[in-house]
Amino acid sequence: MKRIDCDLLVVGSGASGLSAAVTAAWHGLKVVVVEKAPVFGGATAWSGGWMWAPGNPLAKRAGIHEDPQQPRTYLQNELGPHYDAARVDAFLDNAPAMVTFFEQHTALQFVDGNGIPDIHGQVPGAATGGHQLIAAPYDAREIGALNKQLRPTMRETSFLGMPIMAGADLGAFLGMTRSAKSFLHVAGRFVRHLRDLALHGRAMHLVNGVALVGRLAKSAQDLNVQLIASAPAQRLLVEGGVVRGAVVATAGGETEIRASRGVVLAAGGFPNDIARRQALFPRTPTGHEHLALPPESCSGDGIRLGEAAGGMLATGLASPVAWAPVSRVPHADGSVGHFPHIIDRGKPGVIGVLSNGRRFVNEAGGYHDYTAAMVAQAPAGEEVCSWLVCDHRFQRLYGLGHARPFPLPVGPAVRSGYLQRGATIEALARACGIAPAALAETVQNFNRHARLGEDPEFGRGSTPYNRKMGDALHTGPNPCVAPIAQGPFYAVKVLPGSFGTFAGLRTDAQARVLGVGGAPIGGLYAVGTDMASVLGGCYPSGGINLGPAMTFGYIAGRHAAGA
Ligand SMILES: Cc1cc2nc3c(=O)[nH]c(=O)nc-3n(C[C@H](O)[C@H](O)[C@H](O)COP(=O)(O)OP(=O)(O)OC[C@H]3O[C@@H](n4cnc5c(N)ncnc54)[C@H](O)[C@@H]3O)c2cc1C
Repeated sequence: MKRIDCDLLVVGSGASGLSAAVTAAWHGLKVVVVEKAPVFGGATAWSGGWMWAPGNPLAKRAGIHEDPQQPRTYLQNELGPHYDAARVDAFLDNAPAMVTFFEQHTALQFVDGNGIPDIHGQVPGAATGGHQLIAAPYDAREIGALNKQLRPTMRETSFLGMPIMAGADLGAFLGMTRSAKSFLHVAGRFVRHLRDLALHGRAMHLVNGVALVGRLAKSAQDLNVQLIASAPAQRLLVEGGVVRGAVVATAGGETEIRASRGVVLAAGGFPNDIARRQALFPRTPTGHEHLALPPESCSGDGIRLGEAAGGMLATGLASPVAWAPVSRVPHADGSVGHFPHIIDRGKPGVIGVLSNGRRFVNEAGGYHDYTAAMVAQAPAGEEVCSWLVCDHRFQRLYGLGHARPFPLPVGPAVRSGYLQRGATIEALARACGIAPAALAETVQNFNRHARLGEDPEFGRGSTPYNRKMGDALHTGPNPCVAPIAQGPFYAVKVLPGSFGTFAGLRTDAQARVLGVGGAPIGGLYAVGTDMASVLGGCYPSGGINLGPAMTFGYIAGRHAAGA
């Protein structure tokens, strides 16, 4: 068998794995990263790229000096019995240091998201900003040949392969029919993208998750980290109870990779492990009722490897899954994609209803909350689903899911069956299989209050997060509320899906995997979604996957290096 010797082996090349690899390499270790897929980047490359990092240096530079107790207060209130002080402290104490480390020593540079509030503004300790970061846009030419080995942006969330950056960039795309400045921004972006497609066959202006992966991969390359694609780790090498490496399948056959400082499991959790979904996700009787967003290769390998070495899966979390509302997108080539409803739900003039025609949640709240409420409240014995319902004005202005706004035509989305359309609310309800009279009554009630900018039933627009998800250019009194008035009317079916999993291997504050007796297993770390969620399966803010993934990668890398 072929053999490679190194200090640290990292299994998986998403944010958590690359963070661990870059940190350890910078501290002097010889690091190998193995990646099961032919491309590097995992779910991270498909993500929005937002990282939750309270107390980060960009916020401080902008004059936001938060009492370090404030995020703890928020998390104590949010997590309740799931609050694990040692791991939460490790995260909050190290997140700012992680950002400083990458800013000072690597190609990973950040842009702040200081205007993004925590999700549950009504909960004591919630911040109105200063907690979010995203990788700065990146010119893929900086990466050289490695760029072709990076996972391109997700088809459904980009436009002709062009990723759109959350924040001002996205704002310009949504405002292009209402502002000349926005129109010029979009036109410029589009022309540059077409040039990149012609010259390079892919997007070269990287933003969001692909920018994070691009910058981390470049940093890894600069530090001589060995990156091996199409190389799934198959089993760990355990000697005297200590993990010393792994056997990896490569194109040339099995390779034994021996790692003197151990192995970091960063294989992206189990969003595509059907059996574990069936066992752990609520209302998922066959495991197939779930639309996972991460790549197929994130299928539970890291957790199985950890368990085989004596690790334990933590299952008592508030939720085993980071829920996302997802619709199925039938593409013209016959394939079916998954679209995450992150942006549209909070805009004024759309509601979410169950098959009984009733609303069930504040649609402008968090994506996890929307889906959790749908799973809890969909009528028993029926498929768990909901419908987002809007009128023609809304669809043309904001788009509905994957059906893009004007100037793109809505017809193809209707013809493919992605959208249902009806001249009246009752006709739309019949097309969807929703109770017609109940939906008509729901819309009538909603409109009565929406005309005044109110939503007494669910309080849309009542938190800073709600308002951020609304439309700042909306002329009414509430950026999240407008009547659903002018036909034709549209609806898209939304199903339970996920950004990833929360249940993962039990770890300590150093990201070391814990064995049955509660002691760390020598030489074994788990980070990212292979590690049980540090926030106990709760979703208090956007960016709570990638912030901890980057931070515990940094912690594991330093620990392995003895820093
Ligand atoms: C559309 C979308 C939007 C999102 N937006 C955000 C956001 O803005 N903010 C946020 O915090 N979270 C977001 N998330 C969630 C976030 O992206 C993930 O939680 C995070 O990327 C997980 O990082 P990771 O390093 O654990 O795993 P990944 O990035 O998934 O990387 C794991 C890698 O391990 C590889 N692997 C699997 N098995 C093996 C094996 N046996 N051997 C070797 N390699 C293996 C996989 O192929 C994969 O490449 C989003 C997710 C999606 C899908």
